[in-house]
Amino acid sequence: MKITQDAPRLYKEFVLPTYGWYGVTIERGKGMYLWDERGNRYLDFFPGWAVSSLGHCHRRVVSALKAQADVLLHVPNTYYTALQGALAERIVESSFPGKVFFSNSGAEANEAAVKCARRYGDAQGRYDIITFERSFHGRTLGMIAATGQQKVRDGFGPVLEGFVTVPFNDLAAVEDAITPKTVGIMLEPIQGEGGVNIAAPDFLEGLKQLAEKHDLLLIYDEVQTGMGRTGKLFGYQLAGVEPDIMALAKALGGGFPIGATVVKDKVAEKLSPGAHGSTFGGNPLACACGLAVFEAIEKDHILENVAKMGGYLKKRLDALKTAFPELISDLRGAGLMWGVELTVDGNPIFSRCLEKGLIINCTQKNVLRLLPALTVTGAQVDEAVNILTEVLKEGC
Ligand SMILES: *Cc1c(COP(=O)(O)O)cnc(C)c1O
Repeated sequence: MKITQDAPRLYKEFVLPTYGWYGVTIERGKGMYLWDERGNRYLDFFPGWAVSSLGHCHRRVVSALKAQADVLLHVPNTYYTALQGALAERIVESSFPGKVFFSNSGAEANEAAVKCARRYGDAQGRYDIITFERSFHGRTLGMIAATGQQKVRDGFGPVLEGFVTVPFNDLAAVEDAITPKTVGIMLEPIQGEGGVNIAAPDFLEGLKQLAEKHDLLLIYDEVQTGMGRTGKLFGYQLAGVEPDIMALAKALGGGFPIGATVVKDKVAEKLSPGAHGSTFGGNPLACACGLAVFEAIEKDHILENVAKMGGYLKKRLDALKTAFPELISDLRGAGLMWGVELTVDGNPIFSRCLEKGLIINCTQKNVLRLLPALTVTGAQVDEAVNILTEVLKEGC
């Protein structure tokens, strides 16, 4: 059944206009490519906003989902399922000792992180969390308060209390912001939406020392950086500064909605039955997909490909920066997470790339963000950078 032709009209009439629609109706995806309803093919260098990190419809994820769909779709969290236990074990064994709370999205994973931190500080009346300018933590009422960008809060006041925002990579500012009410510090190891800004290793070391000195919880929002994106399984492993709480979502389900919050035992022991919950969190379908993602990363040697292709993409982007010094002012990233900062508005460049069959992203108005699937090949890197080169040439 073909039901997509009318999508633009139906969206205009019936869907809340909270997104900037591109005017393209997508019909299917496979690996690095998407196809629209007219049969046009797009090379996807921003798959699912970092969700489809193994490429679209990865065979391991699809077959795990199909198999599980025949067995059990859903069961409440008051029952055990082998799948949820196995995924929790997999996450903890590949990160740090602790316990996992499952939810359905990045914002929810961060909400759970903040609730756990507040519970940890409750006995001393501590609840403030220090967050950073240009951070992005999601769209719930709690997370728009945590996010260090005014635009996400506009028109949605009053803002939830308990968050203090300071400049990123500024250790002195963090130290100054600590009060007897502070319980945690929350950050992305590499800010995604904020423009691909990397937390400096010595900044992270400094945060860890401050956290130890003041008994603060270091909370990493790894919703975008997690599951191999940076070349390590988790972004915190780049600098080796371990968090006390870590939030995951996006790529964890390989395209299926899931969120997870990992908390160290000293925090976990403050939680008891009834303290937090989610009807769908850790649903059998989601956990089957999460396990398939872990399996793919391990068996298909995904991190090796990220190292190899990340290096190659960086090399090609470096050359692009050299070729267009007046257009490209900076290049930042790690693994397969790259931001190309422009001296001009990036939105027309994004649009021209889309017309030429390349999907990228433009954030903060002037940073082109490239997050290809971790399965990308050298030929696909070439195809993408060649299209980007043509578009930049037109712009000169
Ligand atoms: C996307 C994102 C979120 C929000 O995730 P949702 O699933 O949209 O709620 C939170 N933090 C970071 C770092 C993100 O990239």
